[in-house]
Amino acid sequence: MSAIELPITGMTCANCANTIERVLRKTPGVTDASVNLAGERASVTFDPAQTSAAQLIERVRAAGYDVPLARVELPVVGMTCANCAHTIERIVKQLPGVAEASVNLASERLSVGYLPGAASIAEVVAAIRRAGYDVPTQATTADRASPSEVVRTAHRAEIADRRRRMVVGLIFALPAFTLSMSRDLGLLAALFGPHFAPMAGHRMPEHIAVDWILFALTLPVQVYTGWPYYRHGYRALRNGAPNMDVLIALGSSVAFGYSALVLLGGGDGHVYFETAAMILALISVGKYLEARAKGRAGAAIERLIGLTPKTARVLRRRDSAQNDTYEEIETPIEHIAIGDVIVARPGERIAADGVVVAGRSAVDESPITGESVPRDKQPGDPVTAGTLNKEGVLRYEAARVGKDTTLAQVIRLVEQAQGSKAPIQTLADRISAVFVPTVLAIAVLTLAAWLLLSSDFERAVINAVAVLVIACPCALGLATPTAIMVGMGKGAELGILFRNSAALEQAARVGVVAFDKTGTLTQGKPAVTEVLSFGDVKAESVLALAASAEWNSEHPLARTVVETAEARRLPIAPVGRFQALPGRGVTATTTNGSASGAAQHLVAAGNLKLMQTQGVAVDAQASQGIAQLQAKGRTVMLVAMDGRLIGAIGLMDTLRPEAQACIAELKRRGIFTAMLTGDNARAAQAVAHDLGVDEVVAEVLPADKATQVAALQTSGRGAVAMVGDGINDAPALAQADIGIAIGAGADVAIEAADITLMRSDLRGVVQAIDLARLTARGIRQNLFWAFFYNALLIPAAALGIFQQYGPILAAGAMAFSSLFVIGNSLRLRRARV
Ligand code: ADP
Ligand code: MG
Repeated sequence: MSAIELPITGMTCANCANTIERVLRKTPGVTDASVNLAGERASVTFDPAQTSAAQLIERVRAAGYDVPLARVELPVVGMTCANCAHTIERIVKQLPGVAEASVNLASERLSVGYLPGAASIAEVVAAIRRAGYDVPTQATTADRASPSEVVRTAHRAEIADRRRRMVVGLIFALPAFTLSMSRDLGLLAALFGPHFAPMAGHRMPEHIAVDWILFALTLPVQVYTGWPYYRHGYRALRNGAPNMDVLIALGSSVAFGYSALVLLGGGDGHVYFETAAMILALISVGKYLEARAKGRAGAAIERLIGLTPKTARVLRRRDSAQNDTYEEIETPIEHIAIGDVIVARPGERIAADGVVVAGRSAVDESPITGESVPRDKQPGDPVTAGTLNKEGVLRYEAARVGKDTTLAQVIRLVEQAQGSKAPIQTLADRISAVFVPTVLAIAVLTLAAWLLLSSDFERAVINAVAVLVIACPCALGLATPTAIMVGMGKGAELGILFRNSAALEQAARVGVVAFDKTGTLTQGKPAVTEVLSFGDVKAESVLALAASAEWNSEHPLARTVVETAEARRLPIAPVGRFQALPGRGVTATTTNGSASGAAQHLVAAGNLKLMQTQGVAVDAQASQGIAQLQAKGRTVMLVAMDGRLIGAIGLMDTLRPEAQACIAELKRRGIFTAMLTGDNARAAQAVAHDLGVDEVVAEVLPADKATQVAALQTSGRGAVAMVGDGINDAPALAQADIGIAIGAGADVAIEAADITLMRSDLRGVVQAIDLARLTARGIRQNLFWAFFYNALLIPAAALGIFQQYGPILAAGAMAFSSLFVIGNSLRLRRARV
């Protein structure tokens, strides 16, 4: 029996706890389960032979609740194909406490979701090593080194190793191939006499001598170049999951073994030593180029990592000096602490997130936001690690350092997202899982059929070898992850962050884009345009009272009213009780110092809905005033005191300059556009008309925006993306198929959104969709190619169309297909979006 504690989120009531308990108790192997609603956890006792943590988590999730997991990314070396990835996933998932394991073959990363406490990284690493793969030691000991750094080092070593094996392979295989070809084509006979004529039937001693030379040339290739394939192939077989290494090892060793038998047995017949060698050499060329290209797929992330300077100049007080004198000390980046003041000279990169305390300069923030125009910085302005100081000398105080900087978060996010598995990949995975056994079966069939039909043992063997070699599912395993990596990397360069592969895939299918109005389509910096007073209160007091009530609100309308009142030097009375009513407005009790002494007043500021809920009557005169403001496209903030309407404030927000172009571009792509706003219908219509938005839904409460999104989802126009500021639009962003948060800038609050636009620019929406569509197309092309190629060439190889050169051509074609897939993915890097 073992016991685990599962953290559970999403429970709202005792009922939920009961449901989960029931679900868990019904799971075979569970002897006891109890759910703690307040503690948000379940204690489960179960028989590990019958069930596992992963299954229990699965059950809880299926019941509609979530089990939050700790996550770790580990670099894994030694994987050669989709099957290795499978094996590792299977083995790691079997560990107690591990719920999820997913391998990204392109980035050579294993992402593990586990219950901290119930599983440890050390156990995971040990299991991977037992299976015959390796995790570089740095990754397990130091968390300081980022996974990608570790991967990079491992990668370089891998490339070097592959190059050596390839070079040795070519040095021996090419002469063997040339020698054998010269004999077959009669060249040897022309040069050295008729004893070397192409072999027909009986073998001369000269032939046997040549065969021995071929044997000698081929042996090193079999041993050295072939070693990784034999080793990995053997491990894969032992794990019960044969992979492409098995096919390659089998293909070349059958060719070699057959030839050795012919030679040693002294029988008649052609030898195929050069075939065995060429298979290994050609595939090694492919593998070498593949390893290099995979490195390039991760180039974007490496560029981001390279943005952090290694050292920074920190201002430190001179110890000995009596006066306050400071010196600049070159400090390794790891030693910078919060509160340090750092000096950035022109041309230097900012080392930490912080605030400028002295100096003026322009800073190029494009690495983070994708925005190419440098930003002016002066004291009080925020700076972000990784950005480039262009002109002046800046001094800034570090507020976030090391792994907490925006840049570090972005890198982590992109790495995680790149490592996530795209839904479409499960298809490829399922196919490659049955691929190798199928190919083995076809190879055996080929052998049997040729033996039966032609009783030509030699051709039977060679055609079977061709089948083995041609049908390696490498291209299949690479088709999706390489495209995803390149697409996401490119996104990061443009300031577009995808949360995971599913988000990227889904974004390609978007048919509707819904926008929040305030702060999304508009700049969210409204201006007070008019102040009306109804009755005996002065217009100034209306504004002052509104400012008091709005003092504690973060809403853009509130900020504007407060700032305007301050600018006009109006007395803003302190407030007591304050309440914000999302989508309606605010209420607060004030002490109105200026008008009526120290009397308490209940002030309400907001829209008509607020007035209705507060029981404030709006008379005919007021209605007319309000209507006039609305007709001008104003957002109207009504102000009431003690249940009586005293005035109205007209506010005008300006559209973002690129809003119109964004809507037009979306429409050009056949995407339906909608605007959801809590603002009044008339102001909303005015904006929608200017922009050309297809559909407007006005006067919706923030909570109802999710319902509106759901309505769009059932409209049959395809997946719905919702663009919002990510703060008060969170429910709508979550409901949408794709939630796009805009303008997160330095504050990466990306967890809620599927796509985060680092730059406050709506064109990012179009770019994100374009990029997703391009990536999806790349994936489809890759998958098609990988399938098509196999589907076409397996029968050709089985039928022996390429005669005795079948296996060599097959090895070349197989190397080519992987390269095609990777090359096609890399093409995305250069695509214009
Ligand atoms: P949007 O949907 O355009 O982003 P919100 O949902 O934030 O707008 O707000 C909708 C409406 O609710 C606003 O147009 C305004 O009338 C009212 N409102 C919300 N918050 C406040 C506030 N703090 N003060 C006054 N009015 C508010
Ligand atoms: Mg809003």
